[in-house]
Amino acid sequence: MIYFDWNATAPLRPEALEAMQRFLTSDFGNPSSIHAAGRAARVALDEAREKVAALLGASEREIVFAAGATEANNLAIQGAAQRFQGARFLSLPVEHPSVLEPLEALSKRGAIQWEKLPLGSEGELAPGALDAFAGAAFAAIMLANNETGRIYDVAAAGKRAAETGTHLHSDLTQAAGRIPVDVRALGLHSGALSAHKLGGPKGIAALYVKRGVQLEKVLFGGKQERSRRPGTENVPAIAGFGAAAAAALRDLAAYQARMHALRERLWAGLRALTPAPVLNTPLELSVPNTLNVSFVGRDGHFLLQKLDMAGLCVSSGAACASGSPEPSPVLKAIGYDDSRIKGAVRFSLGVTTSAPDVDDALKIIHQVLAAGS
Ligand code: PMP
Repeated sequence: MIYFDWNATAPLRPEALEAMQRFLTSDFGNPSSIHAAGRAARVALDEAREKVAALLGASEREIVFAAGATEANNLAIQGAAQRFQGARFLSLPVEHPSVLEPLEALSKRGAIQWEKLPLGSEGELAPGALDAFAGAAFAAIMLANNETGRIYDVAAAGKRAAETGTHLHSDLTQAAGRIPVDVRALGLHSGALSAHKLGGPKGIAALYVKRGVQLEKVLFGGKQERSRRPGTENVPAIAGFGAAAAAALRDLAAYQARMHALRERLWAGLRALTPAPVLNTPLELSVPNTLNVSFVGRDGHFLLQKLDMAGLCVSSGAACASGSPEPSPVLKAIGYDDSRIKGAVRFSLGVTTSAPDVDDALKIIHQVLAAGS
């Protein structure tokens, strides 16, 4: 099987597995316990927190472990909505559902006024979009989109947010470990990232909250994670997350160079097809592992199934609800026409992807297309 769906999830890095093992077996203590078993777990939490903070250019006091980027995004958005009741909240229209859904629910309830920022014809922020920050309490602008891979100019939004006093939140999930992330240079007040996209375990993530920034509590319970995310910490997963974050940071430059080369190899093979698929995001504007193209006139979901049967895992970007695929909400929000949306396929590569994998994938794609899928 060739796995080109690393934006969905990544396999566990060996470093992460190794770091987790002792907390799944001998070192099972609760970090809140003051005895030796608890202290060993506390040390593991502290070390992992430093590593995750280092990946973001944050300080460890600013990292809150949570159960997923979904939870982290919700803690930031719902915490801000409690704080800025009735205020204007902004987001990109192409955010992940864990950003869009809470904003929609809050706005339907009348708790906030939600506006989506306008996009240009290729999914970029429209010129002047940041003018909307004036008078807005909160804005969510993801650093990299999960489907298209597009990198958004969050630093420009950060500058604007500093002028307008807007709380800037960024979903960093598809960017962390793929491009350099510096929460201070970006001007963020909060951010979210998930371990399983960068080779850590599933079900663990981090919320970055800038020192001094107030978010109301969303979950109530114990004092863990400075009361921002109460509940006994998932120590093995956090240890794995820390190890994965450290490995991602250590390897970032080499990773980027490899991903650029492999993606170029894949794109060279795809653009030699007749008809060639169209690129849905310019390569230089996207995270280096992601290639989203449309086989115009074909059905991306059907193509995905045929590719899967031939041993290649990709994504069509379609949200599958009860077996019937809906067209990609991201490409729809960008405003692409129906045939482009329908024919979209996302290839996302990762640390174990090799040049022979790309060549084999291209062979499979040729065969599947030639069979008339
Ligand atoms: N944000 C983005 C951009 C994502 O791609 C994902 C995962 N698909 C999430 C948030 C949610 O992450 P998690 O699976 O950790 O809840």
